[in-house]
Parts: sequence; structure tokens; C-alpha cells
Amino acid sequence: MKPTDFQYVSYLWDESVANQLDAVERLRYRSNILGADQRITNTGGGNTSSKITMTDPLTGEEVDVLWVKGSGGDLRTSTRANFASLYMDKFLSLESIYNKAEVKGVKTEIEDSMVDLYRHTTFGLNPAASSIDTPLHGLIPFRHVDHMHPVSVIAIAASKDQERLTQEVFDEEVGWVPWQRPGFDLGLVMKEKLKQDPDLKGLVMGQHGLINWANDDKACYELTLNLIEKAARYIEQHDKGDKTFGGQKYRSLDEKARNELLIKLLPVLRGMVSQSNRFIGTVQVTESVLQFVNSVDAPRLAEIGTSCPDHFLRTKIKPLYVDWDPQMESGESLLEKLEAGLIKYRSDYAAYYEACRHPNSPAMRDPNPTVFLIPGLGLIAWGKNKSESRVTAEFYSLAIEVMRSSEAISEYQGLPRQEAFDIEYWLLEEAKLKRMPPEKEFARNVVVVIGAGSGIGKATAHRVAKEGAHVVCTDLSEEAARATAKELVDIYGVGIGVAGTGISRSGPAIGLAVDITDRESIRSMLANVVLAYGGVDNLIITAGIFVPPDKQGYIPDDKWALTYSINVTGPYLVADEAKKIWQAQGLKTSLVITTSANAAVAKQGSFAYDTSKAAANHLVRELAIELSPLVRVNGLAPATVVEGSSMFPRDRVISSLAKYNIGFEESESTESLRDKLAAFYAQRTLTKSPITLADQAEVAYLLSSNKFSKTTGQIISVDGGLHEAFLR
Ligand SMILES: [Zn+2]
Repeated sequence: MKPTDFQYVSYLWDESVANQLDAVERLRYRSNILGADQRITNTGGGNTSSKITMTDPLTGEEVDVLWVKGSGGDLRTSTRANFASLYMDKFLSLESIYNKAEVKGVKTEIEDSMVDLYRHTTFGLNPAASSIDTPLHGLIPFRHVDHMHPVSVIAIAASKDQERLTQEVFDEEVGWVPWQRPGFDLGLVMKEKLKQDPDLKGLVMGQHGLINWANDDKACYELTLNLIEKAARYIEQHDKGDKTFGGQKYRSLDEKARNELLIKLLPVLRGMVSQSNRFIGTVQVTESVLQFVNSVDAPRLAEIGTSCPDHFLRTKIKPLYVDWDPQMESGESLLEKLEAGLIKYRSDYAAYYEACRHPNSPAMRDPNPTVFLIPGLGLIAWGKNKSESRVTAEFYSLAIEVMRSSEAISEYQGLPRQEAFDIEYWLLEEAKLKRMPPEKEFARNVVVVIGAGSGIGKATAHRVAKEGAHVVCTDLSEEAARATAKELVDIYGVGIGVAGTGISRSGPAIGLAVDITDRESIRSMLANVVLAYGGVDNLIITAGIFVPPDKQGYIPDDKWALTYSINVTGPYLVADEAKKIWQAQGLKTSLVITTSANAAVAKQGSFAYDTSKAAANHLVRELAIELSPLVRVNGLAPATVVEGSSMFPRDRVISSLAKYNIGFEESESTESLRDKLAAFYAQRTLTKSPITLADQAEVAYLLSSNKFSKTTGQIISVDGGLHEAFLR
């Protein structure tokens, strides 16, 4: 097939790129372009290998080295560091160790213990960990091997008559092996298959995917594409059109009605699934998802669950489908059905665990579904962070494509429950989970920082992101909010997964505009947060205004009103709107309002600001009572943070320096003038140290965190110690 002939996969091999690379980089290149197409393999799924002749650093002799994609990571973004390297002769010698075991075969102790031995065959001090799929590559006597999870081939592999279909689609070119959990034994099964039929170019792996090989890397890449294309064409010839999934039973809601319902539904749903662990949501609404959730067959197919083990490790053995009529039934009735569905799902999950567990199985994991299917609305996925819920959504979308394709050519079947359990609760998987670093303080949390475009807000956004928070940066200026969010995404990355469009692509941070003097603007900002992440946890308000009086100490009435509107009414409106979401979620959280040391000190010249901050202090106390026991409310009272503060523009700094008789030159930079003023202010404090943005951000973070879980209704000053501002 010519590169331009492919209709169902993207042909991306560029000879001019490949020719400039060494053999290992060519493998990296091939892997990246295979992983770049979701129709070829899913995020994090599949692996590739090349057997490369290299000079042994120990002997100077030429040896064969198996370079194979290691454990973890993603083909699309893999670098050389993601590939393990093994001496071929040492790896092959492991077969005799395996054969000597008294009890061997799939799921035996010797099979799992082989994984530890791969490390002993490492070439070149490479720290990359070999995956359980290594024998699938090492035991195939061809130089290059691709193992992919393409939807079109999984569709064949997940069909009732998969063996016959493999023959019909691929003739004699590709063989078939029944489902077997990956490991050393599966490698031996494949090797045997190839021994019996040396002309085979690949194998369809029952319920799992595709593996194929060649002695040239470009030929291997092209073969992979050819086989996937062939399967896809066969499926499209049998497409059922309007009859897909038994035809449509329900109609989709329009975008406005859908979003209105989602904004109400998501926080409630998040609360329901987050009783032991908080989850972050992703809403997936595509034509193919809607075709599935609205269909006659959706309940039957959803119950069968996903087939490819890679898919269901994230999607769980099955999703929760709710039979709800979007045109005839109310939102309240949807919530009732979801609640009843969840109770049933959890008890089904516990029954599955009890029925399939072994004496040494790990304890039962969270019994909540990670995928919800709702007619008219689409798919809602949950994960420990945005990246994971996005990949979960991607995987179920791929599973939908597998079911559509499989039902077009045959009848879809899932993995037998015991097999699914033995993957989900595999001791090797458990060991991998145990090796993961502990979660950070704000992992699984959505933190909204208001005023994140500059000063304390921006420093706070950075501080909470460091603790693993999903940070919603908001500011009156959308541009400034987005700029802070971009800084965070540049540091922490957008995560894996490419599912969905628009807002569902959001990573660890987003930037949104908000005017806290306008209830409608607050409502719309919070609605966007709910659509992006499924809910809201901590809220930190740092937005504030200081309007300097004129030389006579006069402040116009409209500026007085504006000061109160931003410093007092704003935080009240934000709390009042967020309250609805917090109550719907029913999850404990916190609100921090930035007030000021000025709130406690009576002096001349800043009437409006000082009295507004005194009111804000009391707002903290009243909100603490109003929102208890769900939300802790505390105040952060900074004083004279000059560094990077929008409240200290150049002319205010200059007039303060003049007021205190501090010498300066007109030509000095604003930062240098600010430093002078900060040093002066520092001398007025008990600790004699300048007060920085980082000092404020640290306390904003601490008050929001569980470290202060027993503190509410309090104002914490971060002012270097001003005795006249002591609260009493
Ligand atoms: Zn696989």
C-alpha cells in the first residue's frame, strides 16, 4: 500500500528523518509515530522493540541487544530513556530457568518471578525497567516487533468468533492466539506458533490486540499499519449505519441544556464517588459517545464491560449506565437513578471481588465506578487527577469503538470475570501501585485562587500547585489569569491523554476571568470550573483594592463604594455562590479571605481601605459560622507587602518614600524603590524582616491545608509582627 492509500491510520514515516538517526533512535522514532495515532494504540498502551548489534563495553565484542519499550510511559512521548536494553543471549538463557520450574505456565509463581530476572540481563547500565511484555519481543526471532492495541484489531479479538474472523480478514498472513495474561508463557506460546508456521507475519491476541514483526524497521512499521488498515476496512464494509447498537432510543440534549444539567449534576456526582478518595472529572461528549449512550443496546453492552486489559485497568471492569430519558424525565429523577445505580454498582463490585479473590489477593479497592454513561448527556469519567480522568474517558471512548466494530462483524464479548480480576488484582500491579510516591497534600483537589494574575494570588497559585493541586487561576484580567495558568502548565505539564476537545483538554491549571463585584460573573466562572474538573474544593481570595486618597485625604464616594464592593461584598458573593457547589458535593473544604493588618489599626489617610478590611475580618468570622461544618473559613492579614504588589505602583512608592524622608533618585527602577520602602517597613516590625509574597503564599496554603483542619474563624497576620495590629 502507498502512504497515501491509508484511510484509517496516519502514515507518518519520513525517510529523511529516519535516515539521520542511529538504530536506537530509529526505534524511538517508530514508537512515537505509532503512538501518535489513537487508532493504532491507546495512551500508554502497546510496546515496540528492535534487536540491535552493539559493542559490548565489557569485552569489546559485537553483541545483539534487545531494545524494548520499558514499563510505564507512553509510545507517543517516549524518549530513549523509556527503552530497556537486554543482552539477547542472556535473555534467551532465561528460558531454561523457566523450563526447570516444576510448576510453570500462565499465572504460576515462576512466571511472575521472571520479571525480576530481566534486570540481570541489562546491557549498558540502563536503569529503565523491563515490562511484563518483554518476552513477547525477546522470544520472537525477528529483528523488529510492534505490539499495538488498535481498535479495529481489538474489535476482531473481542468478537465471539475471533479465530474465524482473523482468518477471514488476514488470510494466512496473521495467526491467532487465545486470550492469555501477558508474561513469559505467552511469549513461549507465540514462539511455538511461529515455529509451526514460519510464514506468519503477526498474531491477533485474543481479547487484547495485535503483534507483528519484520527484519527491517520501516517494513515492520508499514506492516503494522497495513494490518490495522485491513481490519478497519473490513469493519467499515460491515458497518450497520442507523442500526448500530440496535438503533437510537433517546435523543441528545442541546449544548445549553446539557451544560445546565452538568453544572448541577457534576458536584453531586463527585460527592457520591469521593467518599473515601476525591476524584477529578472529565466530561466526554462526542458523536460516537452520544450514539452509544442513546442507543438501544447500551445497557447490554455496558454490562459486558471493556475487553482490552489496558482499557479496563482505568475504566474498571464495567461502567455505570443510567437508563434515563433526557426528554421525558427530570434532572431530579436522574439524580435518584444515579444514587440507586451507585448502590447497586458498589455491591456488584464487592460480589465480583468476593467471587474472584485468591487467598493472597490485595484488599478490595475503591468500589465506585470511574465511568458514568448517561443518555442525552454523554460520558463522565473520574480519576485521581485530570490527566487520569481524561485517559479514562479516552479508553472508554475507544472501548465504544471496539464494541461498535465488533457488533458490526460479529457479537462483542468481554473478558471472563476471573481473567479480569486476575489482571486488576495482579500482585505485580499491586507492587507497582505500592512503589508510587505518596500523594501530595492537594492531589485530587481543585483550588480556585481569585486574584491569581499578580502579587499574593499569583504566588499562592504557584505554592498550591507545588502541593499537587489543580489550580484555577482567576483574575479580573483574563489575560493575567491565563498567563499564570500557563506558567503552571509549563512547569507541571499537561499530563497524558489527548481525549476530547475544548475544555476537557485542561491540565493541572486553567485561567478564567472573574469580576467578584458581579454575582453573574462569579456564577459563570464557577460553572466553568465544574465543567472542567467536576467540582470545587478550596477557594483562596486574594483580590483586593486600595484607592489612595488625594492630598487632602479625600476619597470620592464612588471609590469608597468600589473599595467595599471589592474588599467586602466580593468575598461574600464568592462564598455565597460557592456554597451551593460545596453543599452539593458534601466534601469538607476551606475558604481563605485575604484581609489586612490595617483592619486593626486606626490611622489617618486610608479610611475606606481600613474599614473595608475590618469588615472583611468580621465576614471571615460570620462565614465560619454560616458554612460550618463543611467549610473552614479563615483570614490572612498581610501588611505592607511591597514586592511585586499592584497596590504599590511607582507613584505610591515614591510618595511613601518622600513621606518617610527616605532618600532616592528619580532614575531608580521601581523594584529598587520598592526594596527601599520594604526595608524601611521591615524596621517597624518586631521581626525586623521584609515581608515577601512567598511569606503570604505559604500561610494561604497552610490555612487551606489539612495542617490547619481544626482552625476556623481566625485571622492570621503575616506582617512581620506589628504590635499595634495585634488582634484582641
Ligand atoms: Zn498489550
